[in-house]
Amino acid sequence: TFGVYHAKDPVKYNGVSTPVERRTDLGIQGLVPAAFVPLELDVQRCMEQLRSKATPLEKYIYLQSIQDVSERLYYAILVAHTAEVMPIVYTPTVGAACENFSKTYRGTLRGMYFSLKDAGNIRKIFDNWPSQHVTTIVVTDGERILGLGDLGVNGMGIPIGKLALYTACAGIHPAHVLPVQLDVGTNNEKNIQDPYYLGLKQPRERGPAYDALVTEFFEAAMDKFGEDVLIQFEDFGNLNAFRLLDAWKDKACTFNDDIQGTASVAVGGLLASEKLTGKKLSEHTFLFSGAGEAGTGIAELMAYAISIELSIPVEDARKKIYLVDSKGLVTKSRLESLQHHKLNFAHDVADCKSLKCAIDALRPSAIIGVSAMPGTFDKEVCEKMAQYNEHPIIAALSNPTSKAECTAEQAYTWTNGKAIFSSGSPFAPVTLADGRRFVSGQGNNAYIFPGIGLGRLAACSTRITNHDMYLAAKVLSEQVTQQELDVGCLYPPLSKIREVSAHIAVAIAKNAHETGVATEAMPENLMEHVKSLMYDPFEDPYVEQ
Ligand code: NAP
Ligand code: MN
Repeated sequence: TFGVYHAKDPVKYNGVSTPVERRTDLGIQGLVPAAFVPLELDVQRCMEQLRSKATPLEKYIYLQSIQDVSERLYYAILVAHTAEVMPIVYTPTVGAACENFSKTYRGTLRGMYFSLKDAGNIRKIFDNWPSQHVTTIVVTDGERILGLGDLGVNGMGIPIGKLALYTACAGIHPAHVLPVQLDVGTNNEKNIQDPYYLGLKQPRERGPAYDALVTEFFEAAMDKFGEDVLIQFEDFGNLNAFRLLDAWKDKACTFNDDIQGTASVAVGGLLASEKLTGKKLSEHTFLFSGAGEAGTGIAELMAYAISIELSIPVEDARKKIYLVDSKGLVTKSRLESLQHHKLNFAHDVADCKSLKCAIDALRPSAIIGVSAMPGTFDKEVCEKMAQYNEHPIIAALSNPTSKAECTAEQAYTWTNGKAIFSSGSPFAPVTLADGRRFVSGQGNNAYIFPGIGLGRLAACSTRITNHDMYLAAKVLSEQVTQQELDVGCLYPPLSKIREVSAHIAVAIAKNAHETGVATEAMPENLMEHVKSLMYDPFEDPYVEQ
């Protein structure tokens, strides 16, 4: 019966890719057909199956069904075909997967759920998780899933997807990751009415019980898996996101990807744009549409980067960064009623109700869309940007694709090819009527967080800081080649992402050693050490590593 347990453990099981001579030892002889299928061939077979599926959601479910049986095969697919499957595992398809999470639930053991009803018992419940050695947790409370709003427990698709990317893009071992959903209710009426909805059917907890659950979760996780377990906040609403990050950043190894990871990938793209525009960060005027987690996160890291570029205080560096929120330009005259995270960018300028008014008044060289309001960068906005700039930077970062401020085609067409465009969800290459071809880059957080996770693992670091985010941005921008820049792309190809992650990891580990948050001695060759930690599905799993 030993073989049955082996066959049911997706982390270990290799199915028909198990060499015939090992099947007896593993006790799976007779449990699989006789053929031996090399992993590469199995990947090819699965890709054919995948491509035959009619809808992105069917593709997502197909890939999940493979992950449920053999993680090695799943990650072999993700590593070998990153660019093709990333939009399925992550944005935009993961959005549809979340919206359909309860409906398409297949009972798989993938992550843990802690609800308000579990208060007081979280530490004990952690013992139910099969893996004793978890290094990396992604946690959500489901309140702001991509730009789709409150999906409640259906948001679990996001931690699952993000952790898949930790493994695919940086080789964090699949047995060492743990997706977590904190179920604190939902204010989504559709969920409440849905007979299939799997979470608590009650209004979202806003009182002390919420903080108590988060605190208990953090303390229990660190008690169970160690002080240095990485806990990534993901897709919390901005009522809680800034607050919780502030509360935990100096007490745990934690960061918020929507605030900090987004900031890093956006600043990385801007640093790379220097090679196209000849303009340094400090020479830009930035205007944001959206002043939430992503907007103020990016704005703060930009200011930090400018302050380093010019050796000036960060307060001064913030002066050329402006935010527009749902009420218009964030200005000094609104000081009384502004949320805390916007205060640093409330400048002494005339009020503007709209983005267009702000563009005319401030003449920004870069606009960054992070409002989840599709269509915000319309023809007039793009034309204005092209009128005021030789190379306007237009970043439509809202996810999924349906929420993007404009499409790649719109940005290039409306600016007559002048725009340097990037987006949060991927767009196909665009060819203009005159034959010019553009391949826009995706400001995908997956360029950043996996490398950060790997780097801090390599140093057994107990903290993650904004300086880490800055370092990651810088390393990312250095990985973009002339070939990519020539077609207008600010990011390296996804096929190189493991290499990018390794470089980021080295910078993060080095910084951890230099700042005293590493708990292990610095190895002689950091790159070698980092690479030795990376799980590679194509390596022979039976050779002791
Ligand atoms: P958030 O914290 O909820 O912030 C949304 C912001 O948009 C708020 O400041 C809101 O204004 C503002 N807003 C709403 N309507 C607006 C309008 N008509 N014009 C201008 N601003 C408006 O959300 P978030 O975490 O920042 O995420 C926002 C979007 O960014 C999501 O679609 C998300 O998927 C995307 N995102 C992309 C990436 C990436 O591409 N790498 C990473 C993270 C997030 P108020 O403050 O006045 O309410
Ligand atoms: Mn997110």
